[in-house]
Amino acid sequence: MSSEKGMLIVLSGPSGVGKGTVRKAILEDSAIQFKYSVSMTTRQKRMGEQDGVDYFFRTKEQFETEIAQGGMLEYAKYVDNYYGTPLRYVQQTLDAGTDVFLEIEVNGAMQVRQKMPDGVFIFLTPPDLASLRDRIINRGSEDQSTIDKRMDKARQEIKMMSNYDYAVVNDQVSNAVQRIEQIVRSEHLRVPRV
Ligand code: 5GP
Repeated sequence: MSSEKGMLIVLSGPSGVGKGTVRKAILEDSAIQFKYSVSMTTRQKRMGEQDGVDYFFRTKEQFETEIAQGGMLEYAKYVDNYYGTPLRYVQQTLDAGTDVFLEIEVNGAMQVRQKMPDGVFIFLTPPDLASLRDRIINRGSEDQSTIDKRMDKARQEIKMMSNYDYAVVNDQVSNAVQRIEQIVRSEHLRVPRV
């Protein structure tokens, strides 16, 4: 259904489930047209990451100033760092009639759900917890205590699935991408509520 405003699509799920990989694969797929909202974070840049592309890398002080000024749509402290979605870009892009794609952790997704209930909320799940642990370890960028913290967090996060509109199993990236594309296409055909 064509509506004037763009649609907000929120992809969430536990850390290590492959949200970033699925997001990149979707954005490279020309079949779906939407803008990715680059998040802000206080965590260290990983190898190969670029400021303004992967994240806006900021200090804790800069991030807290943004919060205080009302500049964040949502934010969360995640494994000792802030992560959040700058509000202005999302608003302007939706107002211009373009869909916006967020890839965020579950606490942030629940804040967005409160503020923008018309959004489409998709929960990406691992086929099982063992495969999640393998993925976090294989990424090789985390020490043991960070891996343990991320796994604890993931167990809690999986319980949040019932708060979402859709659940997509990430057994293979190409499958997950296809499922998300199906969801977005169907949502665009939805008869608007009057
Ligand atoms: P990573 O450090 O692996 O890039 O991301 C850690 C977690 O933060 C992932 O679950 C990722 O989806 C989430 N994340 C990334 N950007 C945002 C954001 O803007 N807001 C929230 N709440 N979480 C985010």
